Amino acid sequence: MADKIENQEIKINFKAKGSKSTPYNVCFVIQNNRLFANCDCKAGRFRQLCKHKIDIIAGDESRLFNCDEKEKLNHLKNVFLKYPDLKRLTSRAIRLKGAIQQEEYIVEVAIRRKLTNQLKEGVTIYRKNI
Ligand SMILES: [Zn+2]
Repeated sequence: MADKIENQEIKINFKAKGSKSTPYNVCFVIQNNRLFANCDCKAGRFRQLCKHKIDIIAGDESRLFNCDEKEKLNHLKNVFLKYPDLKRLTSRAIRLKGAIQQEEYIVEVAIRRKLTNQLKEGVTIYRKNI
């Protein structure tokens, strides 16, 4: 995976742990300088923001089905840090996980809505300082 992802078409796949014994496929697609996230779980197939997408975006290793994808996840994290909109996406996913855990329902709904809209439209991946 190259660090420079602008103007490239890229697919990054992860196997995510779910409630069943078979993993779900979470796929990040970069197209026309926009990032989209897909998941083949029930919610994901309806284009909803599922916990698999949230956890992978947040960089949560415990969601990974295969330990050997940890490195890939770290790399994704580092790439996300370089692009302001992707960085924001990551902080929102982390904040959302915190809100779910602490049962801050109103915060949870607000962030969930933002993240869902962001991912539906695709997240821009322009680097700030070029
Ligand atoms: Zn899912």
